[in-house]
Order: sequence, then C-alpha cells, then structure tokens
Amino acid sequence: MKKQRKAVSLISGGLDSMLATKAIQEQGIHVEGINFFTGFCVEGHTHSIRKDKREKPVRNNSLWVADQLGIKLHIIDIVEEYKDVVINPQHGYGANLNPCLDCKIFMVDKAKQWMEENNFDFIITGEVIGQRPKSQRKETMPIISKESGADDRLVRPLCGKNLPATLPEKEGWIVREQLFDFSGRSRKPQMALANKWGIEEYAQPAGGCCFLTDPNYSDKLKDLWANRGEKYYELDDIMLLKTGRHLRPKDNFKMIIAREEGETRYMEGYRKQFMWIKTVSHAGPMTLLDGENLSEADIELAARITGRFSRGRNEEKIIVAVGNKSKEFTEMEIKPMQIEDIQPTWYL
Ligand code: SF4
Repeated sequence: MKKQRKAVSLISGGLDSMLATKAIQEQGIHVEGINFFTGFCVEGHTHSIRKDKREKPVRNNSLWVADQLGIKLHIIDIVEEYKDVVINPQHGYGANLNPCLDCKIFMVDKAKQWMEENNFDFIITGEVIGQRPKSQRKETMPIISKESGADDRLVRPLCGKNLPATLPEKEGWIVREQLFDFSGRSRKPQMALANKWGIEEYAQPAGGCCFLTDPNYSDKLKDLWANRGEKYYELDDIMLLKTGRHLRPKDNFKMIIAREEGETRYMEGYRKQFMWIKTVSHAGPMTLLDGENLSEADIELAARITGRFSRGRNEEKIIVAVGNKSKEFTEMEIKPMQIEDIQPTWYL
C-alpha cells in the first residue's frame, strides 16, 4: 500500500500560502499548517485594539485560512528566538527594518525541525520568484533551501515549475506538472487560480506580513534602539510601537499617546510599567511616558502635550492625573499646549 505522505505548510494568512497549500492538498498529500508568532504580525492585533478599525473583521487570518482549507494549524510563539533575526540579520535588511531573507531561512529551519519531530515528509511555502525584490528572487530561493537545511524537501508549488525538481517530485509523491510557474509581482495568476478554485475571500494585508516592512514602524524601532544605546527589545516594546502616537519632545523621554478609546483601554494595562498621564476634567487620551530621570518640568511638558489631545484643548486650565508605575495618582492643573507649539520634529 502506498504510504500517505505529509507536508507542513507555512501559513501567513495571505493568498499565496493558501494557494500553495491547496495545490499540494489537491495532489492527495496530508497537509498541516504552521504560523509563527513573531510579535511583529500586522493582522488581528491592531484591529482588535483600535475601535475605529472595527469595520474589518477581528480575526486571525492564519486560523481563518486553515479553516477554509480544512487543515490543522499550529501557531508557534518564536518571539524570543526571533529577536536575533531582527537584531543581527546575516543578509541585512530590506527597504526598512525587515530582515526578510534571514526571516525566511529561520522560519523554514523551524518548520524543518517540526517536520522531523512529527514525521512529516516535506515543507511548503507560498513563495513566488520575483514577487519581492530582495527576498523572493531566483538567486535567493536556493539560499533559503540550503541555509535552512531543508534542501530539496522545500517545495514552492506556485513557482515550482521554474525551479529544480525537489525530493517529493523525484520520489513521485507529487507531480511536477501540477505545480505552477508564477513569477513576478503581478497578482493576476494567483487571483485567477483562486477564482478557478472558488476561493472568493482572502486577506490582502496592506503592509505585507509584518510591521517591519512599514517605514513609520521601522523609524520608531530605530528611535527605540538609538535611545537605549543598543539594539534590544522586549515583546511589550514592539507591541507598543504599534499603538498610539509616539512623540519625543526631549531626549530623555518618549510619549505614547492613545489615538482613541480602544488604545486608551489597551494602554491602561501598562500603568504598572510606566509613568502615565490621563486627563481627568475632560475626556482625553491615556499617555505613557517611556524614559529616565524625568524632572517636574518634563512631566508638566508631557501633561500639557497630553492636554492638547483632549477635549479640553481650548480651555485655560484642565486637570490631569499623573501616576508612576502604579494605579495610584496625583492630580495636576495644567494649561493645554497650543497646537503651534507642538514641534513636528517631536513626532516619531
Ligand atoms: S515581511 Fe516580515 S514576516 Fe515577512 S519575510 Fe519579511 S521580515 Fe519575515
């Protein structure tokens, strides 16, 4: 009897990994998915924090894709191990702080370990030659296979016909003719295939797989590293970089000001980790102060800036609560800052 072959697929939640997985399922292979949680993922988190993004469904797209495909999904937390990929990428960064080539090598390597531990036979990714200028090029495909150690057990069904035959093809587990030859940046072949397979709904993440491709996010991460004097982060740091307006009015501290109610509620969870400011006499945002050695003048400056973003912005005086790493607070009366006094250079 023929042995049931098994493949593990990297599921990002986007269309390409969805189609790549389905292409292999169509060949009678048992497929399970892996989604890696790095802390930089775009989907789900931001939408569930911000109230004004609620018109979009709050869902984890990788789970949704797995559900559509009828496969089991394993979500694996790689936050700690992934730090070295972001901080010291051997192949450098893309246009922003996105270490895409190192990231792919790392994820395929992790998938390979999972494959071996679980007696699976090969790995699937949704990569397409030429789709990304740095990481998805014909020259980078063998680098990912080789440096991850996956070698010819890595199958890219969407462009497999343009690549050397892999082990599953040579062994007859899958048929090469049923793979695809997509290349380039156009999404039309993927959309046509989705249409052929009756896939009508799929996520189209505007910012790619993760926040590291976002120039504004990368600038905030660079600022964090520059002010710490070293490339270092914790999960809370990178979560807060996705939240609020970030202003640095002075070198020794940064303000994170909630942009709306959902963010205020989220940031209230950080009151025991940061000095914080919240308007009391008028509706207004929660502000976290990230810094060292704040003087009374610094706190007053931060309170006045916070006041500017409150409903009391045009009042002569408003009351704010100031707490220091606790829920307890003292109240302060301040004059909200005038809009023209907020320097554009303060915004990160
Ligand atoms: S966009 Fe982000 S998750 Fe995707 S390959 Fe690049 S670094 Fe990795």
